[in-house]
Amino acid sequence: MIGLYIHIPFCKSICHYCDFVKIGVQKEEYRIKYLDTLINELNSYQNYFDKIDTIYIGGGTPNTLTDEELIKLFEALKPIKPVEFSIELNPESYTHKQGEIFKKYGVNRVSIGAQTSDLEILKFLNRRHDNNHVINAVKSLKSLGITNINLDLIFAIPGQTLKSINQDIDFFIKLDIPHLSYYNLILEDNTYFHYLYNRDKFHEIDDDKSRKMYENIIDKLTNLGYNHYEISNFSKPNFESLHNLKYWENQDYIGIGLGAHGLISGKRTYNERAFHKYLKNTLYEELILSKEDKITEELIMGLRLTRGINLSEVNLKYQIDLYQKFPKIKEMKDLKLLAEEDGYLKLTKEGIFLGNQVFQIFV
Ligand code: SF4
Repeated sequence: MIGLYIHIPFCKSICHYCDFVKIGVQKEEYRIKYLDTLINELNSYQNYFDKIDTIYIGGGTPNTLTDEELIKLFEALKPIKPVEFSIELNPESYTHKQGEIFKKYGVNRVSIGAQTSDLEILKFLNRRHDNNHVINAVKSLKSLGITNINLDLIFAIPGQTLKSINQDIDFFIKLDIPHLSYYNLILEDNTYFHYLYNRDKFHEIDDDKSRKMYENIIDKLTNLGYNHYEISNFSKPNFESLHNLKYWENQDYIGIGLGAHGLISGKRTYNERAFHKYLKNTLYEELILSKEDKITEELIMGLRLTRGINLSEVNLKYQIDLYQKFPKIKEMKDLKLLAEEDGYLKLTKEGIFLGNQVFQIFV
């Protein structure tokens, strides 16, 4: 079975930290052209429709589409019968009517960009919502029977403290949400924060403080019954994101839309990232992965899962002995950054904090 990722790049305003593929909301004429191009691209994968078991509509901000545009997209997706059907949304653009459309077309998982409950920090990030938008969206979705909800949250934002992180968790936990994604703020190139950083007007939180915040998040959420199943993801039992698991388990997925990428039968597809070029020709390039590329991707993505990678499965799949192929695994085990448990190779608690250092040995 394979996943389907659909990218809707439009955003009403640009967040100061964002390096995703996004553009401002376009005139109706261009949104229509975009949807038509996207639907043509979707239909070029018709042969795979009966193999797709997860759909994820991300962005950008998918719910900047009008109701009619959402319906047009959902109608095109009707022949696909996924087990999990997710959509991302920004709380300030959400309406109950959108929720009804989601429900009608089988959306059963919603991911809301909440980021923090601190209004000053939301402003600092250039987010346009407040806590009532989040509360109302959650209430509305639940009233429609869509209870598999994720909140995207961020830590290590300048101005945050351990106390404010705890306040965020306490606030969002009250909403009784089965999944939380908690990302470390990264200073990315080509963002407004980077522009400020170059002018000495943005100061990152130091590593020590950021690590304490992350440790605190893991401890607090674990104590609240969330399973820390991936470096940045926490879920109640059976609420793991099935679509995102495909990325971490190195399974195939189709990616359509501006800047989307996919992985199909050992081939990576990369779509155009420039809006007007995408409208003319969606695909930018295809790369056939070598066996070495596949192993590297499998290990780096698989180690993001806290359960780790199944050693015998990987050895069998690639006809290798991982310990022989990567002698540095032993070094990492001696440093207590990697550990083997019940046939799985995994990051230790220390290794999770120093993940990039560990991943280097596979590159
Ligand atoms: S809404 Fe999401 S995609 Fe759009 S600018 Fe903000 S973070 Fe980026």
